[in-house]
Amino acid sequence: MRDLPAGVERREIDGQERLATQGEPVYGEPTDGEWRAWDPTRSKLGAMFDLEMDVGLEGGETVLYLGAASGTTVSHVADFAGPTYAVEFAARPARDLLSVAEPRSRLFPLLKDARKPATYAHVVESDVDAIVQDVATRGQARVALENRQFLADDGRLLLAVKARSEDVTRDPGDVFDDVRAELEDGYEILETRRLDEYHVDHLGIVARPR
Ligand code: SAM
Repeated sequence: MRDLPAGVERREIDGQERLATQGEPVYGEPTDGEWRAWDPTRSKLGAMFDLEMDVGLEGGETVLYLGAASGTTVSHVADFAGPTYAVEFAARPARDLLSVAEPRSRLFPLLKDARKPATYAHVVESDVDAIVQDVATRGQARVALENRQFLADDGRLLLAVKARSEDVTRDPGDVFDDVRAELEDGYEILETRRLDEYHVDHLGIVARPR
């Protein structure tokens, strides 16, 4: 079984072995003491961990998270990572994200558009160790390329691609081929894996900057 980052464990919670991190509960997830289950059906990054993709994280990394929504996944990330910058452009989920950040001193919510990195470049430190992206809108490869500037040379892009957000009418496999090809402009792709077991028509991608 692949090693998990420090601060992420597989633990028996509610009679079932589950991924878990330590922190304040956020979405009604089962808990055991300070440990909270990380539900891979509600989190693409959780699915990438559960499917044992080699995400290259050891714990304590600086993370730029694009598409934080209400904070379901980024709350787990901030539980085991270092400074975690969470970008979300929709005001409604961003309000929930603020509450999620309150007990997490390492989580910094940013009400910003991930297609306009210049608007948060003065806040996010350069050379982050990982970009986690789950924006689920058209142009997912472009967003990853535009934010590559923040990533350390040996950093990792952990990208969830939703085929239907690019084009509902196309075969997801064809959409994924196009996204992979576009990403190659700025990234070397290390691993890809369909996440269908947990998220239909989604692809998980691990890449590093070229
Ligand atoms: N990552 C979240 C999680 O696992 O908890 C779920 C993210 S949801 C699938 C996609 C989110 O990306 C939405 O909240 C949407 O508002 C946000 N989003 C889409 N395009 C964006 C952009 N250009 N900038 C910032 N946020 C964006």
